[in-house]
Amino acid sequence: RKYSNAAAAVVEDPIIAPVSVNYKQLLIDGKFVNAASGKTLPTLDPRTGDVIAHVAEADAEDINRAVAAARKAFDEGPWPKMPAYERQRILLRFADLLEKHNDELAALETWDSGKPYEQCAKVEVPMMTRLVRYYAGWADKIHGLTAPADGPYHVETLHEPIGVVGQIIPWNFPLLMFTWKIGPALACGNTIVLKTSDLTPLSALFASNLLHEAGLPPGVLNVVSGFGPTAGAAIASHMDVDKVAFTGSTNTGKAILEMAAKSNLKPVTLELGGKSPFIVCEDADIDKAVELAHFALFFNQGQCCCAGSRTFVHERVYDEFVEKAKARALKRTVGDPFKGGIEQGPQIDMKQFEKIMKYIKSGVESGATLEAGGDRLGNKGYYIKPTVFSNVKDDMLIAKDEIFGPVQSILKFRDLDEVIRRANNTHYGLAAGVLTQNIETAHTLTRALRVGSVWVNCFDIFDAAIPFGGYKMSGQGREKGMYSLSNYLQVKAVITPLKNPAWL
Ligand code: NAD
Repeated sequence: RKYSNAAAAVVEDPIIAPVSVNYKQLLIDGKFVNAASGKTLPTLDPRTGDVIAHVAEADAEDINRAVAAARKAFDEGPWPKMPAYERQRILLRFADLLEKHNDELAALETWDSGKPYEQCAKVEVPMMTRLVRYYAGWADKIHGLTAPADGPYHVETLHEPIGVVGQIIPWNFPLLMFTWKIGPALACGNTIVLKTSDLTPLSALFASNLLHEAGLPPGVLNVVSGFGPTAGAAIASHMDVDKVAFTGSTNTGKAILEMAAKSNLKPVTLELGGKSPFIVCEDADIDKAVELAHFALFFNQGQCCCAGSRTFVHERVYDEFVEKAKARALKRTVGDPFKGGIEQGPQIDMKQFEKIMKYIKSGVESGATLEAGGDRLGNKGYYIKPTVFSNVKDDMLIAKDEIFGPVQSILKFRDLDEVIRRANNTHYGLAAGVLTQNIETAHTLTRALRVGSVWVNCFDIFDAAIPFGGYKMSGQGREKGMYSLSNYLQVKAVITPLKNPAWL
């Protein structure tokens, strides 16, 4: 245990969050209301496990109310009926308000999720704002086409909103997942019932209030907090929800598909888990590779669906890489996420903390070499020391399962064919990283890897315009970019006979 005290920061008394919680109820039909049952659920501070606030807890009855409000707003308008330019103006005003409240939103997000404040304030909330502007830009560019027919007919397609959309999001990027979901759905003219994770309900409620301040009509966006098997299941199996978009674990994704099939066959898009390979070729710039591999795994406390959680390193550079990866992990600053310069805060909750500690134990027991970390930091909250394993083998649990924590697994490979086979040997297919200075190697890998995103000599580069989604059991469909719009549109073909047409 010679590294056990080596993390670069220690956990001290938590800093008082520089924000207060003003929105704790369900947002239904433009109003903040209590749950019909009167029930609430506690949301906890991951730094301490203390309660931040009790928020209204939705169950099936509240989902019925929210769906009814969304249905009315869709069927009677004005949202789907207003000119696209007006929808665009509302979204742009929303983006301006996000910018104005950037720091407040960031503080709420940090408090509820444990992410470093600097990451929220400088990266995540600005990304969210950019995404809203991007989809505002699409609002007035969504339209159909004309098509030829084998006869005297005028054929056109109408791109129509799909209706009432159910959206269910996880806790690891509460604000970004909220925006990935509502941005394209609103631009297309849909109405929404969105359920946040019971672990992180606060920031989406705050942001939704800003959207109403920007002019969103009541009932267009309904936001509920609640648990998966009650509120989430009620959305997925609701007969009056026309589509479901889900981000979360692969097992829940399967349950959602089943509920959709058993109710009204609503179309489903899924963004699920991953076990992404990060491949360091022998010609890579090793210092850069070490830094990127570290970032690819440890970013957001390791709680990323696309985390580079299998670090494959070519045998010729393996020893040097392991030494440097260990040194980098030992330098990582872990501590109160409100503190400046902190790279890593606590894990989201006790359940995740215990799950990660179990995986660390399994890594040791299965014979991997523990190079750094391996235990908790401090004695309150859910902090885990940045952990690095070398000599990891493909059949170890830490190389197969999504750990969702700050645990890097380093594996050795000999040649490209071998690493391609091993990288693809997983049910997941979300993302991959490729580190090489050889364009041909890069092209070979980018085409051979069965994943939805490949980052070459970079990692986790996200933009509103870049599509994201999984192959295999990492999901169905794509979010972001123009690809996301098709998730939220119906295509109607309209055929009208032509009388004496000048041309066909
Ligand atoms: P989760 O599946 O437990 O929960 C996700 C959401 O689904 C929550 O809102 C939860 O309340 C709800 N839910 C749970 N059970 C449900 C049910 N039976 N019916 C309906 N809804 C239900 O996942 P999580 O632990 O919150 O998030 C972590 C997972 O999310 C990881 O597997 C991660 O990889 C994945 N994720 C994927 C992406 C992506 O874009 N691919 C992004 C972020 C997270």
